[in-house]
Amino acid sequence: MSEIFDESLRFDQLGLKPDVLKGVTEAGFVHPTNIQKDLIPAALAGRDVIGQAKTGTGKTAAFGLPILHLADPSIPMQALILVPTRELAVQVAAELAELGKHTTIKSVCIIGGESMRHQIKSVQGGAHIMVGTPGRVMDMQSRGEIHFNNVRFAVLDEVDRMLDIGFRDDIRKTLKLVRSDHQTIFVSATISDEIERLARSFMQPDAVKIVSHSGSLTVSLVDQKHLPVEPWDKKTLLLHLLRHEQPGTTLVFCRTKATVHRVTQYLRDKGISVREIHGDLPQSKRNKVIESLRSGNLDVLIASDLAARGLDIEHISHVINYDLPEDPEVYVHRIGRTARAGRRGTAWSFVTSEQGQLLTEIEKLTGTLIEKMEYPDFTPGPVPSDIAERRSKDQSRRAKPQAQKLKERQAAPTSAAGEYTKEELARMFPDGKIPSSLPRKTLGSRLRSRRR
Ligand code: ADP
Ligand code: MG
Repeated sequence: MSEIFDESLRFDQLGLKPDVLKGVTEAGFVHPTNIQKDLIPAALAGRDVIGQAKTGTGKTAAFGLPILHLADPSIPMQALILVPTRELAVQVAAELAELGKHTTIKSVCIIGGESMRHQIKSVQGGAHIMVGTPGRVMDMQSRGEIHFNNVRFAVLDEVDRMLDIGFRDDIRKTLKLVRSDHQTIFVSATISDEIERLARSFMQPDAVKIVSHSGSLTVSLVDQKHLPVEPWDKKTLLLHLLRHEQPGTTLVFCRTKATVHRVTQYLRDKGISVREIHGDLPQSKRNKVIESLRSGNLDVLIASDLAARGLDIEHISHVINYDLPEDPEVYVHRIGRTARAGRRGTAWSFVTSEQGQLLTEIEKLTGTLIEKMEYPDFTPGPVPSDIAERRSKDQSRRAKPQAQKLKERQAAPTSAAGEYTKEELARMFPDGKIPSSLPRKTLGSRLRSRRR
C-alpha cells in the first residue's frame, strides 16, 4: 500500500451511488486514498467522524462524496461546510460541483468580500450544500437569508484552525444553531489532543477518529531542507534562489502582511514577475491572484498564512518559508501546498541563528529531519552597521574580566541603610561595625550564607 493511495481498492467498491461514482471516475480518481477508504464507509454508515490525514490526500472528497451520496435532492440547505478562508470555500465548492456533476445536488459559496445578492439567489434556487466562512455564514443566518433547520451534515474542514482561538466562538455559536438531527465530520492534517477533545464536544459520543498517517505528519514526497541565513540576507538569498535554482511555481510564506508586501516590492524591483496575497487586499484582487496561480500564469507568489491552509494548486513545486512560522503546525500546512496527490515537491526554510530551537520543534512535531541545504553559491552580505555596533558592544561587555566586574560592583558605594533591612545588617555584621561601602544586594545572598 502506498503512502497515499490504497491501490488494492477501487472506488466502485466503496458503495457509492452510480451518479456519484460517475463524477469520481470523470475526475480521474481510480483508487481511493487511505483516508477516503476508511472515512467514506464510516460516513456512509452515519457515524460522526474525526479524520486526520496528511496534506493533499483527498480529505475534501472524503467528506464530500458521502454527502453527495446521502443528500436528499428535495431538501435545501441540508449540509453546512465551514472552512477558514474564502479561497478554500471556493475551491471546496468547485470540487463538490465537479464530483457531483451527475447528481442534482448543488452547492453555494457563502463568503465575505463578495456581494450577498448572488449567494442569496443560489440559496433561493434550492442549493443543498452551503460551503462558507464563519463570518458571512453567521451574517446571512442572522438576516434570515439562510437557516440551519434542515442541516443533516455539519463539516469543519481544517478543524484545528476552525477551533483555535480566532474562530472558536463563531463556530460554537453556529453549530449550536444546528438543532436538527445531524452527522458531523471534522478533518485536518493536524489534530492535537486538545483539539480532538474540543471537537468531540460537538459530536456524538461514539464518534470515530480515523487517522491515516504513517509516522511523520508530512508527505515523504516533499523534499524538506533548511537554509541558515542572517535576517538581513533573507531578501538577497530569496532572489538568488529564484534566479539560480530556477524553481517551478513557487509559494513564499512570510510572517506578516508588511513583510509580504516588502518582499514583493523588492523582487519586483529586481525584475522578478511576482504577486502577493494577504488579508488586506480586496477580494477581487485575491481572486485574480489565485486564478492566475491556478492557470499557471504566475511563477512566484508571496503570501501570508492566508494561503497556508487547504489550497490545492497542482503545479506548485516549491514552498519557501521566508520566515519560519512560530507555530510548528503551520509549517505542516504551508509545505503541504506542494507535493499533493502523489506528486513531488520541495520545501526550503530560511532559519536564522536564533531559530534553531524552533526548527527542532518543527522536526519533533513532523517526525522528519529537515537537513541543511548545502549552499555554497551564495555570498552573504556585510553585517548592517547598527547590528555590527550592537554586537561589538555586547562582545566587549562579555569580554570584561570577571574580577574587574566584581571589583566595580564592590566599589560602587551603596547606602547600607537603603538596601538592607536592620535585621539583615545585624546578621551580616554581628559586631555592629557596618562598613561605609557595601556590595550591592545582588551579592548579598552570598555574604549572608557565608556568615550564617
Ligand atoms: P487535502 O484536503 O487532504 O489536503 P484535497 O482534498 O485538496 O486534499 O485533494 C488533493 C488533490 O487530490 C485534489 O486535486 C483532488 O482532486 C485529488 N484527489 C483526491 N482524491 C483523489 C483520488 N482518490 N485519486 C486521485 N486524485 C485525488
Ligand atoms: Mg483540504
